[in-house]
Amino acid sequence: TSQTNTIRATLFPGDGIGPEIAESVKQVFNAAEVPIEWEEHYVSNSVDPRTNSFLTWESLESVRRNGVGLKGPMATPIGKGHRSLNLTLRKELGLYANVRPCFSLPGYKTRYDDVDLVTIRENTEGEYSGLEHQVVRGVVESLKIITRQASLRVAEYAFHYARTNGRKRVSAIHKANIMRKTDGLFLTCCREVAEKYPDITYEEVIIDNCCMMLVKNPALFDVLVMPNLYGDIISDLCAGLIGGLGLTPSCNIGEAGIALAEAVHGSAPDIAGKNLANPTALLLSSVAMLRHLKLDDKADRIHGAILKTIAEGKHRTVDLGGKSSTTDFTNEVCDNL
Ligand code: NAD
Repeated sequence: TSQTNTIRATLFPGDGIGPEIAESVKQVFNAAEVPIEWEEHYVSNSVDPRTNSFLTWESLESVRRNGVGLKGPMATPIGKGHRSLNLTLRKELGLYANVRPCFSLPGYKTRYDDVDLVTIRENTEGEYSGLEHQVVRGVVESLKIITRQASLRVAEYAFHYARTNGRKRVSAIHKANIMRKTDGLFLTCCREVAEKYPDITYEEVIIDNCCMMLVKNPALFDVLVMPNLYGDIISDLCAGLIGGLGLTPSCNIGEAGIALAEAVHGSAPDIAGKNLANPTALLLSSVAMLRHLKLDDKADRIHGAILKTIAEGKHRTVDLGGKSSTTDFTNEVCDNL
């Protein structure tokens, strides 16, 4: 029966526009008959002492058990004595790589028509290790940690991603001419991994030059892998190349093969509850999740329907200059499946 092939996945609808765009994903998955059964988890109203966070232990267990999930944006509650939601997820699930595909959407005109690249960001260390302190008055210090283990792990993921996704080239982005030891170690690890992938071209590009090249001709790049801070900045730069936050998906890769897909954007409190949000970013994130599950038929179908809806231009949401509501857009995607 079809029941035996059902895959369980965790769904965090999240805050703000999260529940509206999560509803859109559920509707499209139903229409496309995706064999997924969602385990829905909400951000709690109180801190769970087992996680020291508004995310409960049960929520984290759900992702660990299922190995796969989709996350809406979460607005971190203000106050002391708890960890940020995204930090909790990253640490507890060992989400070591953030993968952001970025491609031009046919029919939605931006400065470039031919963007098709993937940034892969190291997600656990580097400049974001949280080790900052005051040395003496007027002098502070921040420690940038680069380890062989985390660098090899993210490099390995980047090359594996390139090979399994039909990509030809991996560019390691760095500043090793100045940060000789830290970025130097990162590059050493990338080179070691590159040797195991002779079918993938490997290159190293200094971050400042990379920015110039991306803005001038983004088609020069394929897969980019880099330490945390560079990845944070470059992936937003790339989102800007294709039309903004309503469109850009991502997927977090964790220990033991966990994949937690999420939109790049936040909870958009200014438009929450108004049926105005563009569900494309979360829908494309759900497509990334389906690809991770090797449900490529379903992924292709949904991906195609989203692109068709945007290209037709009749049902675009407000952020893309249209007049459609979240539900109008979603209905049209379902019709285009
Ligand atoms: P935001 O991404 O929520 O919003 C920025 C602007 O983009 C707003 O004008 C918003 O209306 C618009 N926008 C975002 N997504 C959209 C969509 N799908 N369709 C149409 N328009 C969209 O950023 P912010 O306002 O800085 O943050 C709001 C909250 O989200 C904060 O609490 C922040 O901490 C949280 N946040 C969470 C995540 C996450 O969970 N990964 C990421 C970023 C921000």
